[in-house]
Amino acid sequence: MDILKTKQTLFYNFIGSKEKYEDANIILFGVPMDFTTSFRPGTRQGPMKIREVSIGIEEYSFYQNKSLEEISYYDGGDLDLPIGNVDKCLELISKATAEVLRDNKFPIVIGGEHLISLPVIKEVYNKYEDDLILLHIDAHADLREDYIGENRSHATVIRRCCDFINSKNIYQFGIRSGTKEEYLYAKSNTNFYPFKLLEPLKKCIKDLQKRPIHITLDIDALDPAYAPATGTPEAGGISSKEMLDAILLMSSLDIVGFDLVEVSPIYDVADRTSLLAAKLIREVMLMVSK
Ligand code: MN
Ligand code: MN
Repeated sequence: MDILKTKQTLFYNFIGSKEKYEDANIILFGVPMDFTTSFRPGTRQGPMKIREVSIGIEEYSFYQNKSLEEISYYDGGDLDLPIGNVDKCLELISKATAEVLRDNKFPIVIGGEHLISLPVIKEVYNKYEDDLILLHIDAHADLREDYIGENRSHATVIRRCCDFINSKNIYQFGIRSGTKEEYLYAKSNTNFYPFKLLEPLKKCIKDLQKRPIHITLDIDALDPAYAPATGTPEAGGISSKEMLDAILLMSSLDIVGFDLVEVSPIYDVADRTSLLAAKLIREVMLMVSK
């Protein structure tokens, strides 16, 4: 059965959403899962809050001189998850992502904790295979082999991606926290650009041309001053301006998938983290609908 085609009754849709799945090139869905979160849970409320505040931002973007009204995009709501069952949840995320890719539409997935990106990235990898580049923007390396014995956690998600993606095709930006093992692993395996985003991205943008790219964006890459509402905030991060500039810089790239994770609205002040997430999602949608 098709998971995303049946429209859920949502109090809010992400601004500008079309009525029907069939009418859209871009499909957004939320994954309200946060049960491997290590410090402060709450990201299961991320997608709903991001939708709710999205009505407060414009459909038109000054950055791209383009409006959501000009593109076709559909908000499929949040997945109905069997909460607590990691296997079944990951399976459902896989199925939903595979459905979008099968229909040659662009997946935008909103978490939820970072582990939700694993099945999304796996499905995108299944489509593009070894051509795929994974672009990981985060405060944390997420390269632990396991987290207190659990090998599937939001702290291990990129390491699990290394199980099927050649780590030479993984680019990590903004990372400023992890164990010594993760640091050494990143240094010798992935394309590792700690602390910064825009400057190293400019340097490697040429290498990324003509390759299909999936972006996995953990909101804690931003400084807690800009994005306080996240489970594991980490000081010394990038600004929202730098993040926007980086996203816009990627407009020359062949982006094939995008997920944004770890927004945890209960820790927010004036919805600033959710509003930032909504704006980033708007810019990505406008950018990928060429
Ligand atoms: Mn993180
Ligand atoms: Mn992460």
